[in-house]
Amino acid sequence: LTADLDFSNVSIIDAHCHSYLETPKNLSGEEFARYASIAAQPSFLEGKFVPSKVQLQSGLDRLSTMYKEQPHLKRMVHLLSKFLRCEDTLDAVSRVRSSRAEGNFRQYVKDLFSDVGISGLVIDGGYPPLTDDDVKEFPAAVAKIFRLDTFLKELLASHKDFQELCAAYESGIREAVKNRGHVGLKSIIAYRTGLKIQRVERGDAEEDFQQAKSGRAEAAWFGPKTKRLRDFLFVRALELSIELGVPMQIHTGVGDYDIILDQCDPALLYDLLKDDKLRHATVVLVHSGYPNNPNAAFMASVLPNVFLDFSLTIPFLNPTGHDRLMEILQVAPNSKIMYGSDAFNLPELIWLGAKVGRNALSKCLTASVKDGLFSEDEAGRIGKRILFENANELYRLRIP
Ligand SMILES: [Zn+2]
Repeated sequence: LTADLDFSNVSIIDAHCHSYLETPKNLSGEEFARYASIAAQPSFLEGKFVPSKVQLQSGLDRLSTMYKEQPHLKRMVHLLSKFLRCEDTLDAVSRVRSSRAEGNFRQYVKDLFSDVGISGLVIDGGYPPLTDDDVKEFPAAVAKIFRLDTFLKELLASHKDFQELCAAYESGIREAVKNRGHVGLKSIIAYRTGLKIQRVERGDAEEDFQQAKSGRAEAAWFGPKTKRLRDFLFVRALELSIELGVPMQIHTGVGDYDIILDQCDPALLYDLLKDDKLRHATVVLVHSGYPNNPNAAFMASVLPNVFLDFSLTIPFLNPTGHDRLMEILQVAPNSKIMYGSDAFNLPELIWLGAKVGRNALSKCLTASVKDGLFSEDEAGRIGKRILFENANELYRLRIP
């Protein structure tokens, strides 16, 4: 093997990302950096405690510096300056991309996508919300994932009776999959009450529901905590995913600053996923549990129905992509690994993820060939599976 394996002609399915349609088209450098960031937003500094003007300004200044210093942003600006043929600075890149986005946004995104060969997107349709009309705006095949937590929030507000809430939850999930084109379910319970999920008796879940309705439940920023109710409905959704024959994505690992940092390790799910019934549910450990990627890879390697994608890990948290991806490739069966970006707000993040992800995969697989782990032919097939085929099959996308 004289050169790195070349995957530049392999088309890519981004197996986990979010819509960018709500973001303003014209962004200053400052705004572009903030929209690309997973760090706290400025509103984070405005809680119940009222800081002095000086304190508030100091916090805002630090956030602004953080946005601009994020390594993945630096990398994106550098790579975009080549694509846009402009100076390698945040301001120059933001100016040129804004003028193209304002001119003909769809064409600009199309140019980005064709530059990196994006053919499909699996989008979390719950954040931000995605209508059927929105779906037509993307210059790629789009598959929607049904977000359970957003749905539950609506149901909690609109139902007074526990039996009715459960019935509406179940029929809503069935409807989303059977009639509204969602190709899978998604839980972000790692942002709510954490991944140490227990099987809960119906009566205990109902007690939590009654407490929430009467205002006696412990409150959190997202609403009533009600861990037993959330665990109960999480398990119910997993059971339904078996019946409906669709995968369920579970957010694992870090994410934005609302994450429950000590309750997001995918290892916490291990016992539950071995449950007699739940072992038949097809589960995707989204973000492969960064920084606990080896735990996710291990679970995918021993449990038949556990898959993972390495979104967020690349491009946000490991923007050169090698170490973390290597940990995954060394352990997880390659038919269970999917490329994804977790891009949000900006189509350039989908582009960056594809560019970095393809390159990192090539580097890792080339090294594996040199180490004698895979033959060159095998490594070529594995790259194609991870970038395209695995997601195409698992989510039944039928992209040619
Ligand atoms: Zn995400």
